[in-house]
Amino acid sequence: MLKIAIIGGGAAGMSCAVMLARKGFSVALLERGARLGRKLSATGNGQGNVTNTDMRAEKYFSDDRDKVARALARFGAEDTVRFLESMGGIFLPDERGRVYPAGRQASAITDLFRRELARLNVAVRTEARVDGIVRSGDGFRVTFGGETLCSDAVVLAAGGKAAANFGTDGTAYALAENFGHTVAPLSPALVQLVCDREGVRGLKGIRVDGLLRVVRRGEEVCRFRGDVLFTDNGVSGDAVFRASSYARKGDMLFVDLLPAVDEARLRQTVKGAGEDCLLCIVPNGLARTVIRKAEGRADKLIPLLKSYPLTVESTLGFDRAQVTRGGIPLSETDENFMSKKRKGLFFAGEILNADGECGGYNLQWAFTTAHCAAEGIAQL
Ligand SMILES: Cc1cc2nc3c(=O)[nH]c(=O)nc-3n(C[C@H](O)[C@H](O)[C@H](O)COP(=O)(O)OP(=O)(O)OC[C@H]3O[C@@H](n4cnc5c(N)ncnc54)[C@H](O)[C@@H]3O)c2cc1C
Repeated sequence: MLKIAIIGGGAAGMSCAVMLARKGFSVALLERGARLGRKLSATGNGQGNVTNTDMRAEKYFSDDRDKVARALARFGAEDTVRFLESMGGIFLPDERGRVYPAGRQASAITDLFRRELARLNVAVRTEARVDGIVRSGDGFRVTFGGETLCSDAVVLAAGGKAAANFGTDGTAYALAENFGHTVAPLSPALVQLVCDREGVRGLKGIRVDGLLRVVRRGEEVCRFRGDVLFTDNGVSGDAVFRASSYARKGDMLFVDLLPAVDEARLRQTVKGAGEDCLLCIVPNGLARTVIRKAEGRADKLIPLLKSYPLTVESTLGFDRAQVTRGGIPLSETDENFMSKKRKGLFFAGEILNADGECGGYNLQWAFTTAHCAAEGIAQL
């Protein structure tokens, strides 16, 4: 029976461990933290948005989107739901296609994994930070905290560089670099945008269901409808996270603060009732800011409401980002995400150079690549 070492006890590592153990492999799962699945338990604001019914490669950024498409065709959203439900849960989509556990508790998904890993006798080692993987005959020697484990194949599922408080500080890329892999440039994605101070002054804490447009040199780059939350130095929320995948320093953001009401109706209401009526139309602080900025001019009021301008200055960086853009290029792996540089070395999850939009796409990538790696190992 082949022995498999999986490095990283996140969504990808735990899934791959379950899939391989179900195929009859002897699996060791090595996690540097004190517990498995800490990041998974925090996903989707603690509710665990595991996938999306609108699953397609266009939702991903990668050096090889066609390979992403082929992998998703092998293990897509329905497969994810089937896989997770095979461990005991029930998963349901919301009105926007985002799939969550019925109980809306991400930690319950981690519990499903822990229970299944125990049932399948996977050797789980926590507080086992892997600091070396070296070739040993046809297999590998994996070292962690002075201990050594020999395996026939390795799955490197150690995540990216985003959200270091969950054990992902970017140091695991070096384990792949030792085999001659490169790392496509890393940047934070799905992250709060820092904007010009004047734009967000007085708006901290205000949340709207807005329509956000990113504009670069007069050209619209993308637009997203959803939550826009004003913070002390920028904007956050669902629509912003999605836009953050596209926005760059210097871009303009235009927020329609009231997308459900058209301009003509707004104009008519303000004309009849005066600018103070805004206090009943949008949150108080927002109304006051818009009125202040319009400087008493009715012709400025409506454009501010329908297209509130902000300038992007930066993002909040890796520590506050949900995912990492960049990583091990897909071009350096085969269809099962096995290294082209070293047979038996597989990759799964965020460590690879593919990241998705907000909405369940990144967990789907973890499950998809775990499946492909498990299939690849079965073919060794
Ligand atoms: C707050 C937050 C909310 C999110 N919400 C969603 C969401 O709702 N939907 C969605 O699709 N995506 C979401 N994401 C993104 C998603 O969680 C990740 O893309 C996904 O978990 C990546 O899975 P992974 O297994 O590849 O890596 P991770 O989950 O990051 O797991 C990697 C594991 O490897 C361990 N590790 C690292 N180095 C070593 C080493 N040397 N030795 C041993 N272990 C090591 C780490 O401790 C970690 O546990 C969210 C992310 C964050 C931070």
